[in-house]
Amino acid sequence: MDFLKPRYTPMNRRRRIYEGKAKVLYEGPEPGTLIQHFKDDATAFNAKKHEVIDGKGVLNNRISEFLFQHLNDIGVPTHFIRRLNMREQLIREVEIIPLEVVVRNVAAGSLATRLGLEEGTQLPRSIIEFYYKNDALNDPMVSEEHITAFGWATPQEIDDIMALAIRVNDFLSGLFLGVGIRLVDFKIETGRLWEGDMMRIVVADEISPDSCRLWDIKSADKLDKDRFRKDLGGLIEAYTEVAKRLGIMSENEKVQTGGPRLVQ
Ligand code: UDP
Repeated sequence: MDFLKPRYTPMNRRRRIYEGKAKVLYEGPEPGTLIQHFKDDATAFNAKKHEVIDGKGVLNNRISEFLFQHLNDIGVPTHFIRRLNMREQLIREVEIIPLEVVVRNVAAGSLATRLGLEEGTQLPRSIIEFYYKNDALNDPMVSEEHITAFGWATPQEIDDIMALAIRVNDFLSGLFLGVGIRLVDFKIETGRLWEGDMMRIVVADEISPDSCRLWDIKSADKLDKDRFRKDLGGLIEAYTEVAKRLGIMSENEKVQTGGPRLVQ
């Protein structure tokens, strides 16, 4: 009855399905599953800026696990199943929709630049934007017209994606507000999850300080990837602070990166 047992493949021989800038996807233990591995690589400006930041992958794995588990618990469907170890989580295989869905509450980054708004200006209401996931084109912003004309998603799917994005925003804004953090904006990715003949849109990829703008409410300190983009330093300290406020790490804990270290 060997065929009933899940496949066991040693880590180094697992089939690599996809390698991105900050994560690797491996074949999962059962059909329809994948393993999402968080690397320490930090990139910005379409990978023109690149650095390896020891411990970032471990923190993002933990923070993303926490946020996705809570989303699952409140009935927002996601690809997340469970965390496996320091750098990896088990996820459901989905058909990724080639859009970056950005939700903004406060003007910052490209929106502030594009519309000449002062960073930190509260927006009249939350704004959802779509970007076409294509590195060669620098992820251009697109409208629903482009999305439906080119068949990246149907009008019904766009409605579902927007409804998901709003639910994620409402949940995350409240959660972060409760720990003294302002959720300025964030990006999610979505995918089609097939269950037999049924398909639903779920939140995929990751939600972490790499994909959110998080400002300390009191000091307005940036607790996100802008520390890297703007060469502010202290990225690990900032991500650790987010993890501690969310109660994921204890007050005195330091991020364990694992593996042997070179002693200099
Ligand atoms: N974002 C992301 N990946 C991208 C582009 C943006 O995770 O490839 C996130 C970013 O961290 C921010 C939000 O989406 O929280 C809005 O980013 P923006 O459009 O302002 O672009 P940026 O200023 O980061 O280039």
